[in-house]
Amino acid sequence: MCPTNSRKMGNLRAQYITHLVQYEQQLTALWSAAADDQSRLSDIQSMAHRLAGSGKAYGFRELSQVARELEQALEQTDHLSRQERASAASESLRELLRALRQISKTEPNEVVHDDAQNAAVTKSVSADDIRVLIVDDDEDFAIKLSETLDSYGYSAQVERDITQLEKAIADHDPLAVIVDMDFYGDRFAGAKQVAYWQHNDGAPLPVIFISEHDSFDLRLASVRAGGNHFLHKPLDIPRLTALLRAELNMAPVEPYRIMIVDDDQDLLSLYDRILGDAGYSVKTADTAQNALNLLDQFQPELVLIDVKMPVCNGIELGRIIRQHEEFSTIPLLFMSAVADMDVQLACARLANDEFINKPIEPWRLLMMVKSRVVKGRQLQGMDRALLAHGEETAQDALTALPKLSEVRRALNGLLQQPLERILAVIKMDLREFHSINNLHGHYFGDEILQGVAWRLGQHLGDASMLSRDGDEFLILSREHFSRKALDQYVRELTQVISQTEMNSEQGSVPLSVDVGVAIAAGDNMTADELLDQADMALFKAKTAKGAELVYFEEELQAEQTYRFTLEQSIRQGLDNQEFAAVYQPIFSVEGEHIVGFEALARWQHPEGGLLGPGEFIPLMEERGLISRLTEQIISCVVPQLAHWHTINPDWFMSLNLSAKDIQTPKFIDKLTSLIHTLKLKPEKVVLEITESLLLADWQSASQVLESLRSLGVRVALDDFGTGYSSLSYLQRINADKLKIDRGFIEHWSQTGDARLLRAMVQLGQSMNMGVIAEGVEKNEELAFLKQLGCDQYQGFLSARPMLPEDIEAGDWFP
Ligand code: C2E
Ligand code: CA
Ligand code: CA
Repeated sequence: MCPTNSRKMGNLRAQYITHLVQYEQQLTALWSAAADDQSRLSDIQSMAHRLAGSGKAYGFRELSQVARELEQALEQTDHLSRQERASAASESLRELLRALRQISKTEPNEVVHDDAQNAAVTKSVSADDIRVLIVDDDEDFAIKLSETLDSYGYSAQVERDITQLEKAIADHDPLAVIVDMDFYGDRFAGAKQVAYWQHNDGAPLPVIFISEHDSFDLRLASVRAGGNHFLHKPLDIPRLTALLRAELNMAPVEPYRIMIVDDDQDLLSLYDRILGDAGYSVKTADTAQNALNLLDQFQPELVLIDVKMPVCNGIELGRIIRQHEEFSTIPLLFMSAVADMDVQLACARLANDEFINKPIEPWRLLMMVKSRVVKGRQLQGMDRALLAHGEETAQDALTALPKLSEVRRALNGLLQQPLERILAVIKMDLREFHSINNLHGHYFGDEILQGVAWRLGQHLGDASMLSRDGDEFLILSREHFSRKALDQYVRELTQVISQTEMNSEQGSVPLSVDVGVAIAAGDNMTADELLDQADMALFKAKTAKGAELVYFEEELQAEQTYRFTLEQSIRQGLDNQEFAAVYQPIFSVEGEHIVGFEALARWQHPEGGLLGPGEFIPLMEERGLISRLTEQIISCVVPQLAHWHTINPDWFMSLNLSAKDIQTPKFIDKLTSLIHTLKLKPEKVVLEITESLLLADWQSASQVLESLRSLGVRVALDDFGTGYSSLSYLQRINADKLKIDRGFIEHWSQTGDARLLRAMVQLGQSMNMGVIAEGVEKNEELAFLKQLGCDQYQGFLSARPMLPEDIEAGDWFP
């Protein structure tokens, strides 16, 4: 920033600090008044809100932070009594007062008078004092360019090192900067450094990027870095000077008229100063009423409105302004704190206007304002009918994102070019969006889509494009050289969504996505092919267990066809009752006699023979068919048990349940009626449930467990040791039996390490659960279990899963 500028800022800041003293006094007074008058707490809250915003804008981060904490403390306590609210807030209030005192004590607050401050600061300058900075490491080129510009009456300085950009600007105080893109082999170095500098300092200087290369990515990067123009070498000098003239003569014949409405005087003066210095004609209003009074007389071309204002808030003011026929299309730009997501969305919906998050850095303010007013004047001169099917239709009305047709077009263009970097289509689908819509209403659903669009937009890389279709978001990305970097990027994006918090009246709604990614490979691909592949990958991500991110591979195409046919034949199989159970006897470790059976599903496929559960259960779970299987299995297994009870009434029968059975426990009715009609002792029926299944949805699981318990059947915890339930869960599940996963026996067999196995047997016994070891294949395994004191076992050593008639033919039966 040039010395005059920083002096002016220093003065504004000094003024602000004197205001802080007043804030401190007011807060103290309000706090003691709050003892009798509850409504004072709300005044404190809005004062805290204001300090949170202005504090940050003036660079007092800690102040802003504690003010925000106080605001939140008061926000979350709406339902409490005065007493409770006050005590919840007292801590943060004390902190805030302390911070205020601290600043007024340590910061200088003397206003330095500066005559230049009052001089007109518009930038209509004559050519001889137009200082231009050229940053380029190609010395010959830079010197030649500077000589050329000198001959046009500019005074050009050259800097060769891009990392010295900030310093060179401070030293030369140029009015425009021309920056090469390429440095040390990095084609984006220029854009990166400019973005960095703008972020840190943000003197509102026009930037013209130049580069030997020209591509979509480079142009996008230039725009993202805040560049005003992009030219490629060799330079078209007349064009360059024309651009410089246009940029530097920023104040138009008649300056653009901007109105700012904010109830915070400190911010008003700050924005007023920034825009005024850039040559705009500015009027400020500290209430909605004042703003309306000014409207007719001033005829602003853009209105900047603070959302949070007392009496009439910014959105209401926006609506009122729009009711004036004359101002029905005037651009409105809303300013609000990051936290007010709901409000921001309401703004966006009001008239396709946008919002900027406070605090607003000077460069961001100038950038947003300039693009709008310039466009506004252009529009005035244009035929409206032309616009109707121009750029407007290419946008999604809800999120203002480009439509799919635009993405397809961009993609087709990119596919024509050589693939230097990975070109990927990333498709994200919001999980459970339909339930959210049903539960909370479409209005809220829209807000979610806008919120996600906005968040993703903020995290988009330099060469990405975002679009929306229903509850799916599509990102076209071309900025990574390696799969690893792309993968990292995709994961960041999914995190952005899971960290997006949306609050409905019923509370906060967690969001998550499934993601499918397709990467352009070689030539001859069309946009549609790539989009289809992303679809297939997304489908896989949505359906496969545990996979939320899937990259397209050739196999997916074949797999999809296969799965489709398989589902058809599973449905047919269910209709034809082709599913039945085989039974694996379970033995007592001590006496090696049968104590019960585990029923395991099999599919008697008309052509494929007897198929195991791996072939059909996953797809059944996915396609919602598992409850039909469970019912068929129950219908054959429970009568089988009744039949075997004629031989030995002590035998039990174990059945496997799946996660979906717990979510929709249709099987309970069937089970209950069979137990009653067959007059079975319910405790002889054991239902096997896995830990992970219970934890996935503990709420419905505990309800199901409750009804099973009241029916009198028993519960076994299957595959024990493979999940990660804590001991406290184990207690809550309160299962009757524990089945130790085969992996632990195997581990002992292979390594001789018995620690886990022993611990699990002891754990089960200490909790009064019967312990069953699964997958016993060797004599020494059985011998060791005996030594450990394990109760029961099953395994190929003694019996495989078998058909009932084969079991009955064995020598276990009398
Ligand atoms: P699970 O519940 O852990 O069932 C035990 C599995 O171990 C069975 O495989 C069984 O054949 C196998 N097995 C038994 N003894 C040994 C042994 O000594 N060595 C080895 N290597 N394996 C042994 P199966 O029948 O293929 O079942 C696989 C899984 O399918 C089951 O694992 C269970 O999770 C699921 N499943 C089976 N039937 C049903 C059913 O009716 N409904 C549901 N929801 N799932 C079922
Ligand atoms: Ca089992
Ligand atoms: Ca098991």
